[in-house]
Amino acid sequence: MKKKISLLGATGSIGIQTLDIIESNPDLFELVSFSAGMNIDRVRKIVGNHKPKLVSVQMKEDAEKLASEFPTLKFVHGEEGLMEVAARTETDILVNAVIGSVGLKPTLAAIDAGITIALANKETLVAAGDIVMQAARQRDVSILPVDSEHSAIFQALNGENRKRVTKLILTASGGSFRELTRKELSNVTLAEALAHPNWSMGNKLTIDSATMMNKGLEVIEAHHLFEMPYEQIECLLHKESIIHSMVEFDDTSVMAQLGSPDMRVPIQYALTYPDRLLMQKAKPLRLDEIGKLQFEKIDLQRFKMLALAYDAGREGGTMPTAMNAANEVAVALFMSGNISFLKIEEIVEKAMDKHSAISVPDLETILETDKLIRKMVYAMVE
Ligand code: MG
Repeated sequence: MKKKISLLGATGSIGIQTLDIIESNPDLFELVSFSAGMNIDRVRKIVGNHKPKLVSVQMKEDAEKLASEFPTLKFVHGEEGLMEVAARTETDILVNAVIGSVGLKPTLAAIDAGITIALANKETLVAAGDIVMQAARQRDVSILPVDSEHSAIFQALNGENRKRVTKLILTASGGSFRELTRKELSNVTLAEALAHPNWSMGNKLTIDSATMMNKGLEVIEAHHLFEMPYEQIECLLHKESIIHSMVEFDDTSVMAQLGSPDMRVPIQYALTYPDRLLMQKAKPLRLDEIGKLQFEKIDLQRFKMLALAYDAGREGGTMPTAMNAANEVAVALFMSGNISFLKIEEIVEKAMDKHSAISVPDLETILETDKLIRKMVYAMVE
């Protein structure tokens, strides 16, 4: 029996690598539906390769054009289209690989439909972690991590007594600017920010990695996924990105998951869990060639975004929602050349300062906060 996969964000970095795994294992996986943005040429290619039943794109005109080209398939569009792909009940696993808090409502729709989720969309848990995890528990839906750090922790926790865990240790590569001082950061360019030393990822993630906000989002993600208080989540600079994260237990044992930096590994593990599968075209880890692994404490003065994320996480309520929304807009403004690199951080900090968090928000309040903060940041920059 093939596993039926639905995929949100098929033309992004994680989406493309997910398709690669499905194409490498046609007897195990079948793509039944997917969503994409506006890259219609790629949508045509995916449709040709996979013959899914349902496709959602961003624009109505694109959906209509595609429907006339492929009359036997169903094309939908926009937010509703995304929800329809997410909640398709024949799906065995939904891979949520959209970028940003736009992934929140589809995640909830999939949970409602009782579908197992392979979650690459970390902003979902940052924006509304309490609501999402509570819904998943109520519906008994599994949320399998795709983020490499969380996949590592998930693997290290396999078969363990969770009560024995004393610490989660998230490793961080430090991103494109790890060797620069704060002063040197004032003149960096977009092209420099996009040149990540270890990982090949989407643009938003690469910028988040350069500001260290990515690690901050991951701390909040880990807090929700593994029900761990913030005091027990640590970050560690590890330049080689070979140890993907670790778990410390109360007997002082530390379990780590290692491997060459390749996002297909955690994606595939989420699709095959609890089993594993031969990884085609992969580079086996050769520690003798690597020679040494380095570790360093993260300086929270230098990487201020990480400190802001811990603050937001500890405060809880709508504060992480606000932080995430401000960051999404600030990163977009940096990518379009409207603000400098350090301004991203300044905007996030200011937005958090101005926001008075609501402590136990419902979904409506979360969505409203997300919208208000975006508006506030645009006004701030103008
Ligand atoms: Mg990660």
